[in-house]
Amino acid sequence: MTHMVIVGAGIIGLASAEAAQCRGWKVTLVDRAFEGDRASHGNAGGIAVSECVPLSLAGMGLKPLKWLMDPLGPLSIRPGHALSLYPWFRALSKVAKPKNYARIGNALAALNNRSLFDFEAMLGRLGIIGDLHKRGALTVYETEEAFEEDQTNWTFKRERGVVFRNVSIDELRVLEPGLAPVFKRAVMIEQWAHIDDPKRIVDSLRSHVRNAGAEFITGEAASIVDQGTRVGVMLEGGRFVDGDRVLVSTGAWSARLSQTVGDNALLESERGYNTTLPNCATRLNREVIFSERMFVATPLAIGLRIGGAAEFAGLTAPANYGRSATLLKLAHRYLPNLDVSEAQQWMGNRPTTPDSLPVIGASPRNDRILYAFGHGHLGFTQAATTAELIGDLLDRKRPEVDMTPYSIARFNRG
Ligand SMILES: Cc1cc2nc3c(=O)[nH]c(=O)nc-3n(C[C@H](O)[C@H](O)[C@H](O)COP(=O)(O)OP(=O)(O)OC[C@H]3O[C@@H](n4cnc5c(N)ncnc54)[C@H](O)[C@@H]3O)c2cc1C
Repeated sequence: MTHMVIVGAGIIGLASAEAAQCRGWKVTLVDRAFEGDRASHGNAGGIAVSECVPLSLAGMGLKPLKWLMDPLGPLSIRPGHALSLYPWFRALSKVAKPKNYARIGNALAALNNRSLFDFEAMLGRLGIIGDLHKRGALTVYETEEAFEEDQTNWTFKRERGVVFRNVSIDELRVLEPGLAPVFKRAVMIEQWAHIDDPKRIVDSLRSHVRNAGAEFITGEAASIVDQGTRVGVMLEGGRFVDGDRVLVSTGAWSARLSQTVGDNALLESERGYNTTLPNCATRLNREVIFSERMFVATPLAIGLRIGGAAEFAGLTAPANYGRSATLLKLAHRYLPNLDVSEAQQWMGNRPTTPDSLPVIGASPRNDRILYAFGHGHLGFTQAATTAELIGDLLDRKRPEVDMTPYSIARFNRG
């Protein structure tokens, strides 16, 4: 039986393990802490199929500067980390070039447009299809200006197959009676879905692959090694875990490991924050995106989760939960009388590339070394699809999706 070693057991590594097992592969998973907290546990739980607009600072004028001036604004950079961000932000500045922008949007849509189908199929195999709620999502606007400004993005999305419709304010009140009556415009994305609890999906996947025979090894991966006929991961302390293929899916920590192969990737931890309110779970019927304020609220089964923010502070700086508190304070304006008893604050490291695209595919140096990381804001959405694509590569089958845009080789082209 062919044997795959997967380094990193967040949603991407676990979904890939499940896909490999479905194809008859023996799987060994390596993680520094299988039960530990990670981006995949505390995220907003949205299957955000419409999000194909690349991250870019183009057309924003002085807005990003204004955000940076506010210590608890939606975008922040820790001063100590600013210098090392230069290559990442230089690459981000190239995204806005029209040919790049359209190409990246197409590549995101190619994943997102099949992501709900793949995600649903995965939950079906896990036996937890009831955890998925296909109730759409609403983007709401407080001003006509903000709605008008967003029209370019909606057109961009429509051109890439996203289906949405404008909702009248009367309908908004019926759909979401818990919202304060302050919104002038709303857009419904019917294909969007959300889940009961991202941690429950991760835990179910972990039990599922364990029950199907996966081996679990706890350890800190130091490097990816090719030993001729075998490839694998060298752990701190010198243990070598080898197989016929190795997959690097260590989220925001992945660039360090790909470097040991000689593959450079521009990857940053884009930290996000939220607060979960266990006593407000039924306050909304579906995920709501507060467009101007750049935060979302998702009615998970475990509570209403309110979060967002993009903080660039590296991988080791302590969390600043003032950000969770700021988002919650904002939410009070739009969701009056929130019960904040037993509120839980959380921070997670989004693994974010400057071109908004994940890295999925084989190393150009060695086709037995595979990568699946850098999913940024969309790791949950794209997990099952990423796993299917990795599965195709294991089967030596040509994936339906053109894999070129996701190759790690793009970072070497400049
Ligand atoms: C606030 C917030 C909200 C979000 N909302 C959404 C959403 O609504 N929808 C969506 O699609 N996405 C969302 N995301 C993004 C999503 O959570 C991430 O893209 C996704 O979880 C990344 O998964 P991963 O498996 O790549 O990484 P992780 O979940 O970070 O897992 C990486 C794993 O690798 C292990 N690891 C790392 N380095 C090593 C090493 N050297 N040796 C051994 N093990 C190692 C870690 O222990 C960890 O288990 C959100 C993220 C945040 C922060």
